[in-house]
Amino acid sequence: MIHFVGAGPGAVDLITVRGQKLLEAADQIIYAGSLVNPALLENAKEGCRCLDSAGMTLEEVIAAMAEGEGKGWLTVRLHTGDPSVYGAIREQMDILSKMGIAYDVVPGVSSFSAAAATLKAEYTLPGISQSVIITRMEGRTPVPEHQKIADYAAHQATMVIFLSASLLDGLQRELLRGGYAPDTPAAIVYKASWPEEKKFSCTVATLSETAQREGISKTALIVVGRVLGREYERSLLYHPAFSHGCRKAQPQTQTYGDHREGTEK
Ligand code: SAH
Repeated sequence: MIHFVGAGPGAVDLITVRGQKLLEAADQIIYAGSLVNPALLENAKEGCRCLDSAGMTLEEVIAAMAEGEGKGWLTVRLHTGDPSVYGAIREQMDILSKMGIAYDVVPGVSSFSAAAATLKAEYTLPGISQSVIITRMEGRTPVPEHQKIADYAAHQATMVIFLSASLLDGLQRELLRGGYAPDTPAAIVYKASWPEEKKFSCTVATLSETAQREGISKTALIVVGRVLGREYERSLLYHPAFSHGCRKAQPQTQTYGDHREGTEK
């Protein structure tokens, strides 16, 4: 059986318990070496075959899986973060289905969650943004029509932009063209959760110069939106004046007010 496992964003203790157990039981681990922390392989059992997929084609990955299957091995296909985000797992799963090879998927902590954690940010704030757009700049992989950065920027929602750290000039231009104000807060998070993690706060207008100054051109996420700013409204869920299934309103309670102002992220 093949288990697609999310390795988490980098820190070895951010893999799930289920993922860790499978890694320890695996006879073969095929890992995305460009981003998966190699320390995760240290708990593999003796004799486990570890293959770095960075230098392999889809065909070679499938051949290794099929070989393992023939030998009755447990194979872990280890993808960075959560496999459902830019993981290229669909094509592997479809071929395995055709070949009659069983597989399942173990989710992982995506780097976009790790970036929020290190920024101590909440992507969805009442009155500011109730949506998160996960996207990328068009590079050698084309982006379908109507799904360009400027199209999404028009929504003024929170954006988390993957795979674009080397394209920040263009990204900045597209964000501005799409309608973000130049002073909209932004952040660059490099290697979230790794020991060498770095984070920089800036604005949409200073994204490119910040990355250049700090020498960031890969393995980074760009977070954009007013959720990184100071102002927001408090949640209704915990508001004394608000009733819901688990709690009755307490209208008499003294409140902290509805409009909140915190520190910029
Ligand atoms: N499935 C992964 C994403 C793979 S695409 C996930 O869920 O996180 C690879 C891109 O993800 C990188 O170019 C970078 O933009 C981002 N990325 C992956 N790990 C990261 C990390 N620890 N910190 C910041 N960005 C990261």
